[in-house]
Amino acid sequence: MQIVTSKDLLRGALSKYRGSHQTVVFVPTMGALHEGHRTLMAKARQIAGEDGVVVASIFVNPIQFDNPSDLSSYPRTMEQDLAICANEGVNYVFTPSAQDMYADQRSIIIDETSLSGKLCGASRPGHFAGVCTVVAKLFNLVQPTDAVFGKKDYQQLAIIRRMVRDLDFPIRIHGAEIVRHEDGLAYSSRNVRLSEENRAAAPVLYQTLLEAKQQFAEGKSLDEIKQIAESKIMDSGATKIDYLEIVNRETMQEPQSKEEPLLMALAVFYGDVRLIDNIEL
Ligand code: AMP
Repeated sequence: MQIVTSKDLLRGALSKYRGSHQTVVFVPTMGALHEGHRTLMAKARQIAGEDGVVVASIFVNPIQFDNPSDLSSYPRTMEQDLAICANEGVNYVFTPSAQDMYADQRSIIIDETSLSGKLCGASRPGHFAGVCTVVAKLFNLVQPTDAVFGKKDYQQLAIIRRMVRDLDFPIRIHGAEIVRHEDGLAYSSRNVRLSEENRAAAPVLYQTLLEAKQQFAEGKSLDEIKQIAESKIMDSGATKIDYLEIVNRETMQEPQSKEEPLLMALAVFYGDVRLIDNIEL
């Protein structure tokens, strides 16, 4: 496995794959790697096959953080991360600095103007412009044939699919299922910041989503399902519900009917730690 610390070195390292017929599969991450990322990398290895190339990036992208303290407290575990990448058969890990990634007076951003209106887009202004901008830059640098994203960030996955379609990136986007702890809590780099008490309470999020799916199948109204879910989460000792919504899972807009493909998505604070999760209904 090769560790590549700058854009110039990355271009040099990957130049031999340009114009070749080799599959190059890319997994972007912000590090603090866990089972969720590991699964993405295993999926990337599977797509690449024995002869293909897997590239992962580890970059805590400052421009997608709307909250400076979330950025400064974001866990950083580079040595452990590199060991995980090596174990999962990653060929190249790209670990640029923010100074290398962003020119001093950069003045172009890529924004998405429809799918990003609700959920995380509404509660974290500028977040998806930061995500789209960095992912577009990484796609240009790596020039992968394929890229893998987790359904944990369902809205992000939908927005990346839209960006690839609308801006003609010749890249296949693959979605990976959410990986969970045994008690149901979705793996997240932010879980390590939960207090013991909040860590014990947080699995209620997935229990609530499962119950909502069941209630939906039984024919309860969307409003009723949301109300039951909100009470259950607040009773568990959550600090605040940032959002809890049922949306069309392709458009991320409010559904007009229960026949549409639906997603229930939530963001909940336990203390100052914001957790997200979702389920397809
Ligand atoms: P992050 O490092 O949080 O930016 O996440 C990098 C990628 O890993 C994104 O595509 C996430 O959706 C994905 N990911 C994070 N946590 C999980 C999880 N628990 N299950 C599946 N994918 C995940």
